[in-house]
Amino acid sequence: MANKGQIGVTTENIFPVIKQFLYSDHEIFLRELVANAVDATQKMKALAASGDCKDEIGDLKVRIELDEKAKTLKVIDNGIGMTEEEVDKYINQIAFSSAGEFLEKYKDQIGNIIGHFGLGFYSAFMVSKKVTIDTLSWKEGAKAVLWSCDGSPAYEMEDSSKSDRGTVITLYLDDDSDEFASQSRIGELLNKYCKFMPVPVVFGKEQEWKDGKYVDTDKDKVINSVEPLWAKAPSELKEEDYLAFYRTLYPMNEEPLFYIHLNVDYPFNLTGILYFPKLKDRVAVERNKISLYCNQMFVTDHVDNIVPDFMTLLHGVIDSPDIPLNVSRSYLQSDANVKKISGYITKKVADRLEDIFKNQRKDLEAKWDNLKLFIEYGMLSDEKFCDRALKFALLKNTDGKYFSFDEYKAAVEGTQTDKDKKLVYLYATDVEGQYAFIEAAKNKGYDVLLMDCELDSHYVNLLERKLTDSRFARVDSDAVENLIPKEEKVKLEMKEDERYDLENLFKAVLPAGKDYYVTGDNLGEDAAPILITQSEFMRRYREMSALGGGMNFYGEMPESYNITVNMQHPLVAKVWDAKKSEVAPQGELPAEAPSDASDEEKNHAREAREAVRKAHRSEVEAFAEKNEILHQIVDLALLANGMLKGKALSDFISRSQKVVTDAYLK
Ligand code: ADP
Repeated sequence: MANKGQIGVTTENIFPVIKQFLYSDHEIFLRELVANAVDATQKMKALAASGDCKDEIGDLKVRIELDEKAKTLKVIDNGIGMTEEEVDKYINQIAFSSAGEFLEKYKDQIGNIIGHFGLGFYSAFMVSKKVTIDTLSWKEGAKAVLWSCDGSPAYEMEDSSKSDRGTVITLYLDDDSDEFASQSRIGELLNKYCKFMPVPVVFGKEQEWKDGKYVDTDKDKVINSVEPLWAKAPSELKEEDYLAFYRTLYPMNEEPLFYIHLNVDYPFNLTGILYFPKLKDRVAVERNKISLYCNQMFVTDHVDNIVPDFMTLLHGVIDSPDIPLNVSRSYLQSDANVKKISGYITKKVADRLEDIFKNQRKDLEAKWDNLKLFIEYGMLSDEKFCDRALKFALLKNTDGKYFSFDEYKAAVEGTQTDKDKKLVYLYATDVEGQYAFIEAAKNKGYDVLLMDCELDSHYVNLLERKLTDSRFARVDSDAVENLIPKEEKVKLEMKEDERYDLENLFKAVLPAGKDYYVTGDNLGEDAAPILITQSEFMRRYREMSALGGGMNFYGEMPESYNITVNMQHPLVAKVWDAKKSEVAPQGELPAEAPSDASDEEKNHAREAREAVRKAHRSEVEAFAEKNEILHQIVDLALLANGMLKGKALSDFISRSQKVVTDAYLK
């Protein structure tokens, strides 16, 4: 029998088209052919198991053979094989026409398609000038067939002398695909795509060290593990198994913190193992480590449309035959199955973390600092996860103690509820830098949380929304007396022109280029003379705009500080008294122009008033410039906040030297 025919593809030059479109993914041909061979093998197993095939089925495996010189690659299986009719139906009609349809349907988005499933056998033509199928069906009385096609839509079919059951696909690699005529390249591809396929895949021989070099032994080299860990029952596995599997997946990584074994068969099929890696400040670097498999066949490392964004920080493997693979990414996101899968994985991750919280609290605390980034990112980006996480997420205080949200509330409710019945969570972002403020708060009986993670400014905002009747205040955002206002404080009475003098007095000696809001307050003789704080609100928005929170407006404003002057401190009182006696009060201001005056008259009057103010301000500034105590107390406050730099710092040092010398030696 020799049979020639036209394959049912309408486009004459479909081969060049497909080669061009799928250029970047040529390598998947091997996965497709091995997958077909594995399928045929598993079908054979099933036939034997059901008793439909009574013959001895032999040792089932798939072999890959490469002839680097001849540039041929064979994929050999002893699966069910195909009869002449089946070749005609599955290859000539279905495979080829479905490839045609496929191209037609997805021609606009073909560059985005993951997996390219459905191309199947046809993908062999991406790398070959000629492909043959030599096959003998398991069916009784079947005749072996040799099919060949040179890449045009014409094929030939003739009788074959093949005598053992199964199929041999031979690729005659084309000149553009030289790279695949290499033992190491094929080895690499098999390792990438076929490492966990469910039937042994043989490529070459095991080697041994003999007479100073590696030589082949007689033993076939099986490149895959047919039962990967995720396919086993969780009850059979121990922690060491999971850790060992992690090491085979990521030999260069540190040990993971925790793992989850996923296993569901209704309403969709999904298995897998996810690991929580150690995360410090590496949001970007460690992404996309989850591999997606379909029946143990590698599909992609890009699961970003299948799991919620924060889950891409996890590592591991997901295997599901229910994720549609031959569609574009944007379609994938709206697929109902994918949504269910994504929801399921999120729920499982939350379940597991809650379980760890309940049963492995010590372990969770020990690993929390490395886990927290993941949890905070999840809470920020996924509402459902956030609501669950409020039950198992931990807070850490500046003494290194950990609390759940409930525990923390119970611990500080008594002392840290303000006059409006709001619970005030105090926090520090830098234990060293904010040391004095932390100590002051602790001395008052308050607890201070540590929020030093890169997402914490967003996280604090989120928690304020989630925890009702609560407010967060950074420990250095105000004087400790004002952080948690208890009852309406009597405000210090100061006349308008006194306030103005106080402001000018301090602005004269503070570093230029920043905004200051100077206010006088009675904080007691023992409190610091001057407190420099940054408003919680402004600081938080500046930080968030720096992180890219779409609040650039705040990022562009000059930095502003609140300067609280403790009028009860003896040094401040001394400076203030000196100012009063040395600087004459501001003279009477000229009258304002009447409302019906001309613009020119109004301007004139305004300038006259301004001139009086300015003259007085200059006197205050001149006084400030000369006053050593003022310089000294302001510089000390700046120093405490790490804001004293350059010339100001060196002036401060020489001034202090003099003050100390005077104090000790005179
Ligand atoms: P798919 O595998 O997605 O169905 P393919 O184009 O890869 O599409 O293959 C078409 C059909 O050809 C398969 O469904 C199968 O029936 C048959 N086939 C392909 N390769 C083999 C093989 N190695 N052994 C037996 N049958 C095969």
